[in-house]
Amino acid sequence: MGSNATADKSADKSADKSADKDKSEKSQGDNTETHEKVDIHSLHGKAKAPVLQPFTYERSSKLFARALERIPGGVNSPVRACKSVGREPIFMAHADGPHMFDEDKNRYLDYVGSWGAMILGHCHPRVMEAIETAVRNSTSFGAPSRAEVEMAELICEIVPSLEMVRMVNSGTEACMSAIRLARAFTKRSLIVKFDGCYHGHADSFLVKAGSGLATLGISSSPGAPEELTKLTLSLPYNDVDALREAFAKKSDEIAAIIVEPIVGNAGLITPSDEFIKCMVGLCKDSGALLIYDEVMTGFRVAFGGAQELHKVKPDLSCFGKVIGGGLPVGAYGGRKDVMEHIAPQGSVYQAGTLSGNPLAMAAGLAQLRFLKANKPYARLGEITELLANGLKEIAAKEDIAVPLQVTHVPGMVSFFFTDKPVTDFESALTCDTELFGKVWRGLLERGIYWPPSQFESAFISTVHSKADVHETLVAFEASLRAAIAKDK
Ligand code: PMP
Repeated sequence: MGSNATADKSADKSADKSADKDKSEKSQGDNTETHEKVDIHSLHGKAKAPVLQPFTYERSSKLFARALERIPGGVNSPVRACKSVGREPIFMAHADGPHMFDEDKNRYLDYVGSWGAMILGHCHPRVMEAIETAVRNSTSFGAPSRAEVEMAELICEIVPSLEMVRMVNSGTEACMSAIRLARAFTKRSLIVKFDGCYHGHADSFLVKAGSGLATLGISSSPGAPEELTKLTLSLPYNDVDALREAFAKKSDEIAAIIVEPIVGNAGLITPSDEFIKCMVGLCKDSGALLIYDEVMTGFRVAFGGAQELHKVKPDLSCFGKVIGGGLPVGAYGGRKDVMEHIAPQGSVYQAGTLSGNPLAMAAGLAQLRFLKANKPYARLGEITELLANGLKEIAAKEDIAVPLQVTHVPGMVSFFFTDKPVTDFESALTCDTELFGKVWRGLLERGIYWPPSQFESAFISTVHSKADVHETLVAFEASLRAAIAKDK
């Protein structure tokens, strides 16, 4: 590694040390951490050629063979299968900070972060301590507990549009319950969603749903009854004309718009201001509810999520991932006059044996409290920008010159091999997924675990350092050069 990288590593170490100091000195106060300004041009292009890792995958392969016998596709969630990037999945054994270690003891810099849950990196001491303490009191009560109240209060404090919140066990459950509530509240049936947005795997959402379906090249799912899916109107993202037209025709039948306010499930796509304004206005005028699905963006792109960035107060919001600290959690919440319709206060039924689970609450509370005390968002944004700009610069190098679009928001980034700006699912689909697969495999061989799908965002944690970004860019350049050399 070149001298600059070394210098930056030590700068990062001292930043990390001061973060550690903060950890011990601050408890859960409102202190903000100051960080050095990142010079986004200081690292790139100054490294030695990366050395290919002599990785072996024997144990992973054996486990996958066993898994295939007993688990459909050998995995418990489709994108993990790595099919679209042309290899078998890798079985992870443990993780620490920004790194994961597989069964064969290979080390990876992790950009999946359990699909966004691990915003503080793996095995964050505060989160681990909280789980260890909670587990001594029982793994589940099936009765209310203090942590559930504290979690509800904290989430409502962080996200001002939330007056009440209900904890569930996954993002899927949160979104599924939110549209049931919206339908009951408005006494209407239609749901508007957008192509390429994923809101979990409930039947109503499996219409042009991005994410795993897009990765597998399917737009809907057998088993989702047409009678139900035809109640979901899927429109192009960022297309205000299509949205206005839908409302012009059906405004008194539309119960809600559910939207990924920043799309993560078609690769990362950002909304235009006009699109946001249009959704807010149409919902206000028609009486439909606006549901922000912040399962990915919540407590990540800003402490108050995408709605804080957009200065929007949705009627309902859905959460998951970060609020569970890596344990299975979801939540939906919003206006009190709407939320009051949920059982047992109201008649809209929704329940869960493990909802508000004490371990999940402890992990989530610890993660949220740490975020509150340390507010790492400015630095997260700078690190993400460093990575995004580096990717662009590499692809634009004269002797590489590969058309590349890079989209990013704090803590999330995607790259698409296409010359078209990616503003919706259709433009995302113009990208060269074969080249993505080659580059993905190149990154893996160089110790970088990028999401194994073109149609997923990568996630950056607060413990990814400038040196980590540097390592990633060096690996990206080598992988891209190797991929295009093979093409020629
Ligand atoms: N909504 C969004 C925006 C998501 O990204 C996801 C999962 N990636 C979900 C809902 C579903 O969450 P879960 O996988 O926890 O069911």
